Amino acid sequence: MSSTFDGFKPPLLWKHFEHILTIPHCSGNEKALGDYIISVAENSNLEWEKDKVGSVIVRKKATAGHEHAEGVILQGHLDMVGEKNSDVVHDFAKDEIQAEVKGEWVQAKGTTLGADNGIGVAASLAVMEDSTLTHGPLEFLFTVDEETGLTGATKIEPGFLKGKKLLNLDSEEEGEFTIGCAGGADSEITLALKRNAGSSGELFQLKLFGFRGGHSGIDINQGRGNAVQLLARMLWNAMKEFSFELARMEGGNKRNAIAREAWADLYIDPSQEQNLSSFFQEAFEKINLEYKAVEKEANFSFEKSDGNKEEPLTPESQEALINLLFTLPHGVLAMHPEMEGLVETSSNLAIIRTHQDHAEIICSSRSSEASALKSTRATIATLGKQAGAEINQPEGYPGWMPNLQSPLLKTLKEVYQKISQKEPEVGAIHAGLECGIIGEKFPGMDMISFGPTIEHPHSPEERVHVGSVDKFWIFLTAVLAELG
Ligand SMILES: [Zn+2]
Repeated sequence: MSSTFDGFKPPLLWKHFEHILTIPHCSGNEKALGDYIISVAENSNLEWEKDKVGSVIVRKKATAGHEHAEGVILQGHLDMVGEKNSDVVHDFAKDEIQAEVKGEWVQAKGTTLGADNGIGVAASLAVMEDSTLTHGPLEFLFTVDEETGLTGATKIEPGFLKGKKLLNLDSEEEGEFTIGCAGGADSEITLALKRNAGSSGELFQLKLFGFRGGHSGIDINQGRGNAVQLLARMLWNAMKEFSFELARMEGGNKRNAIAREAWADLYIDPSQEQNLSSFFQEAFEKINLEYKAVEKEANFSFEKSDGNKEEPLTPESQEALINLLFTLPHGVLAMHPEMEGLVETSSNLAIIRTHQDHAEIICSSRSSEASALKSTRATIATLGKQAGAEINQPEGYPGWMPNLQSPLLKTLKEVYQKISQKEPEVGAIHAGLECGIIGEKFPGMDMISFGPTIEHPHSPEERVHVGSVDKFWIFLTAVLAELG
């Protein structure tokens, strides 16, 4: 049978990846892929277990003579993000991913490929099946729903894992080891609003749009503008010089994304239109200057609105809302003191939405230091309370503190140097990883994350570098032999 990946190395890994492409497996729909893992385990006479949420664990005995080595866990997530270009017809619930080879890369036709984390899963399957490898006792952990809720990692039962060393195969740059990640937690602010009965003014809309947005962790240090924060800045400044009545405000739509758009409906006295319009024009020009290096498409408009004519907020409610949005933190709050270039603490002013009698504001904060995360959330809560708002702060997920003295890191560095004749890069990321959660549940677990080179995950441009998959495999199997 001919294969898209004929001649690719290692064949066993690519065989499994090709099969994974035929099984729809977006977050929440991982059962079929879990069943495939189980079928591979049974064909290789390996013991397996499945937990309540659908995560699967497979155990493989050590090769003869290596029974006394410490257990090693290989871990990846079953689910993928389903994103497609608007001109592509694809049903992620039932269609196969159409992969194609483009030069040194494998990409899908207009959809996400699922190399994140399909290559990591395929590597585990290949290790399960390959009888020529040398290793100690192995466990293979396949978690569900990493991408939308970190559910699989969060729900692992104590005792599900026996090993004390974990190799997470969900990193995206060959030659880089990830040894830490940020914890994160949201703050949900509800500010009660009072309204006046009607306005004599005319309704206008101030809108900021065309900002780049991006991931609120990974991209928070890129100097991008937050449309909600900048809209609040413009309104706060205007409030000092003009009178207007705020009726509605909306901006941002995802907790983990930087807001790209925000708008406010204002009643103004028609005689003030010209003055207010030039005021906003000037205010936006200053913003443009500040962000010109990164926000080339950012723009604003101030136009008559024929939208939903809601009653205006009372002056007190309006001031409380604008002041609160103006003072809530957004962006990088601290850099890590030891790891160069790593953001330690940040917060994202993610969403504002006014309703008839209240405004809903969501901030999403991250830090690799639990105490700094706690303090950032306390700041947000204090600002909210000062404005008279109610604050809900649901439990977040824990970070993973980098351990530069980790014995596992030492071994992996030595193996990498021996194979590649160069030093690996060692770093941490300012986003959540399953290792943060697993580390909290299994204290003392020594963990490292690495993988092949995958570009643009979670987008239809996702692609995996073919040569890096082979290097990743050679390194992984050498590490297993060394630890065995
Ligand atoms: Zn992933």
